[in-house]
Amino acid sequence: ATPTAVMVGTGVGASQGVLIKGGQALESAHKVNCIVFDKTGTLTVGKPVVVNTRLLKNMVLREFYELVAATEVNSEHPLAKAVVEYAKKFGEDEENPIWPEARDFASITGHGVKAIVRNKEIVVGNKSLMLDYNIIIPADAEDMLAEAEGLAQTGIMVSIDREVVGVLAISDPLKPGAREVVSILKSMKVRSIMVTGDNWGTANSIAREVGIEGTSVIAEAKPEQKAERVKEFQASGYTVAMVGDGINDSPALVAADVGMAIGAGTDIAIEAADIVLMKSNLEDVITAIDLSRKTFSRIR
Ligand code: ADP
Ligand code: MG
Repeated sequence: ATPTAVMVGTGVGASQGVLIKGGQALESAHKVNCIVFDKTGTLTVGKPVVVNTRLLKNMVLREFYELVAATEVNSEHPLAKAVVEYAKKFGEDEENPIWPEARDFASITGHGVKAIVRNKEIVVGNKSLMLDYNIIIPADAEDMLAEAEGLAQTGIMVSIDREVVGVLAISDPLKPGAREVVSILKSMKVRSIMVTGDNWGTANSIAREVGIEGTSVIAEAKPEQKAERVKEFQASGYTVAMVGDGINDSPALVAADVGMAIGAGTDIAIEAADIVLMKSNLEDVITAIDLSRKTFSRIR
């Protein structure tokens, strides 16, 4: 393509809210035949809500949620925000909730949180976090987790003094149009992959909804592992684009041939990306590839 064609291509992109950071980014996009999508906030809406609470012990919901919120209010994680938002319903004053004091707060990345509240040790998170604390997962908790996962929800457990007392089901639905984007990409001979730090059960359920299956689903992935998987796809011959929105995604955005950040995402992701989808529309992944194909394919 001539420099003029590249300028035109970048300009058309910009006018459509697809910010392409330079000619190299525009050129690489036409070779893309594999796209790795982050799950949370990219394929899903990214605003999780608590949809179900199950108590395993005879305790008052209000007390339960005070302990959980006091712990989670110290975390920036979207799941933590969902839990605190929901807990407000059970407090005295929904608008101005006052949570009990928490000390020794710790956030265990990709697993959950822990704190001491009212002299009790509260641990909130996934199975591997419970195992780390030597907390036994009772059969009825396992059942509830499986049920949540089957519904494409994330199940998290709450333990008090190393005893599981409740399970929360949290839902983060797919973005409208996500399934169609995957199906159009398929017709464009582009393979779609979904990667997430979430558990396998939930990941497989949500992937099935969006039309991604089998070896194209990658769950329980840490940020560095997201980048490693991108490199593996490259090593097996794919030209890979990564689409993500979070801090977690930036190593993978950098590793990919083309990193695409959702405009509403974190500054770090936007910084790491080659292309920014300013309107935060998933459809613009297709816009970007189309534009690059139109600019580069015929002339070669
Ligand atoms: P994602 O890549 O989907 O953003 P993370 O790697 O951040 O996922 O988290 C993975 C899992 O760890 C979550 O699905 C959840 O089970 C657990 N987890 C992480 N942070 C928290 C938290 N603050 N409270 C409860 N569970 C958490
Ligand atoms: Mg995300």
